[in-house]
This record gives sequence, C-alpha cells and structure tokens, in this order.
Amino acid sequence: MTTAPPAGASSTPTLPDFAPIPPSAFGPALNDQGFYVGRIERNLYWVTDGVYASAFLTTTDGVVLLDAPASIGGNLQRAVDQVAAENGVSHEVTHLVHSHHHADHAAASGLFGRDVVRIGHAETRRLLLGYDDPDRPAPEVTFDDRYTLQVGGERVELAWRGTNHAADNIYIHLPDHDTLMLVDVVLPGWVPIYNVNVATDIPGFIDAPGIALSYPWRHYIGGHLGRLGTRDDVVTHQQYFADMAESIRIAIATVDPTPFFMKYGQNAWAGVKAYIDSVTEQAAAPIVQKYTGVLAAADVYTASSTLALVESMRLDLGVGIPVLHT
Ligand SMILES: [Zn+2]
Ligand SMILES: [Zn+2]
Repeated sequence: MTTAPPAGASSTPTLPDFAPIPPSAFGPALNDQGFYVGRIERNLYWVTDGVYASAFLTTTDGVVLLDAPASIGGNLQRAVDQVAAENGVSHEVTHLVHSHHHADHAAASGLFGRDVVRIGHAETRRLLLGYDDPDRPAPEVTFDDRYTLQVGGERVELAWRGTNHAADNIYIHLPDHDTLMLVDVVLPGWVPIYNVNVATDIPGFIDAPGIALSYPWRHYIGGHLGRLGTRDDVVTHQQYFADMAESIRIAIATVDPTPFFMKYGQNAWAGVKAYIDSVTEQAAAPIVQKYTGVLAAADVYTASSTLALVESMRLDLGVGIPVLHT
C-alpha cells in the first residue's frame, strides 16, 4: 500500500553532495552526437557515450561488434560508419558478440536486424530465449567453454571461465590486438555500482580480475564509463576489494552482536539488521576514506558493496557464522 505525501510536502528530495570525480576517471570528450569512437589497435575500435562502452573490429568480410549497449543504440552504427568511411572498409555489421545477456549491454542488438550472426555463451541463449525480448534475439552461435571467432582473417577468442557478475559473463580476448574485454567487473577509474556490481556470484566476481590478468593484454574494455583500462586499473580494483574484505574481517571480529539482540529481543530481524548495518558501517568507513580521490564514486557506492560483501563472506565463506556446539 502506498500513501500520498502530506499536503505541502516537496516532491523533490534533498539530494546529497558527493566528492569530486578524480580527473583520471574521465575519458575523451564526446562529439555533438553524444559518442566518442577511437582506435585501440589496428582495426579494433571502441565506442563510448561516457557511461557505457562497446567495441568493434573492421575486417574484409564485415564488422564484428562486441556488445550493443542500449544507451549507445543508433550511435553504434554511426561510429562504425565513421570509421569505415575514414578507412575505406565495409560498414556492414555481420557479427555481434554478446558479453552477457543483460539488456543494458545487449538491447541495441535488435537494431542490427535478423541477418547478423549473433554469438554468445549457451547460457546467454537459454536466458534470452526465456525472456523473449524482441530487442535481444537469442544468439544462434553458442559455446560452453571456448570459441574462436574468425572473420576476415581476424580472430576473437571467447571463453567462459565460471560465473561472476552474471552466470553467462565471458572473457573476450583479442590476442592480435593486445586487448581483453570483460564487462561489468572492473570499471576503469570507478568503483562498481550497487552490491558489488549486482554480481550474482560474489566469490566468482572477486576471482575474475585475477583470471583477466592471466591473459596477455595492454588494453582493457570494461563495458562502462568513459575510458579504456590498463592492467594497473585491474590491480587497483583488486586492491579495493581486498581492502574491503580485510576491513570486514576486522569489523566482524570486533563488533559485539550482543547489545543489538538485547535491544530488539524477539524482533530477531531488527537485531540482525542493526548488527549487520553496524558491521557494514565500521568496515566501509576506512575504504571510503582510502579510495575517495582514487576511484570515482567511492563515497557513493562503497557502503552498498560492503553490505553485499559482508553477506557473501558470511554466507559463502562462513566468516562470522559460529556453530552452536552443545
Ligand atoms: Zn551486466
Ligand atoms: Zn553494466
């Protein structure tokens, strides 16, 4: 049930202020159509609208698009057209590789019609068949573990290395372009959003950057925000979560749950909430302090991710779950 706000109440909430974004988090300026397209290496290009990013490979047999973010939408083809015109190559998108099934990274797929060869993990196909979204036709070409896409003499190595942000999220390696694309894990220059980037498997999410670093590459496409990443960006992301986990271990070891459960008595959930919130607050504070000015929006989302990591460490890893021995 919802209730109307009292008469005279403002419909605009008071919005908090946050720390300035460090200049290192920003990428190149957008054009007047709201996108930027740039060369990564040779015939591999990336395109961003400042919040989302995708990439494409121009070949003699057509263009291979890597993700089709909804917000870039029609600007994907504009970016391809611009690059194709400048280089005298085909502007026809013939292949579309999906990093994972999420609509924000995939829903411009429908703009490319029926004849594009869509490639994705078998789970991406299964999920998209189930969602039946006309903007996201299910990929016809699928794989379970590994797949080498070869188009016009170029190769793209696709691999599923376990669940992380999503069950179907894959590693897209372009060994001849020194590039790795792993979407929704490391967001170069920025902290992840809510709840460890809404990861369905938080231990898998924590392990994924190490798998990313096991590949040889110099350029990283994280699927988000306005710039490409480096190996140092991946290491900073790992350090952020390692620091968060360590801070959580300390908070779990030092916050005494007794007063919270004493206070709320039979309302067990109120006791749990007050205790977990207190652990989260204590664990998040030094992380916000350390990373403000280092990773953009550390003060915006660290508390949310800390809460999710507290629960994952308790439930997945068993940290701070004492067993009753009687
Ligand atoms: Zn996603
Ligand atoms: Zn995303």
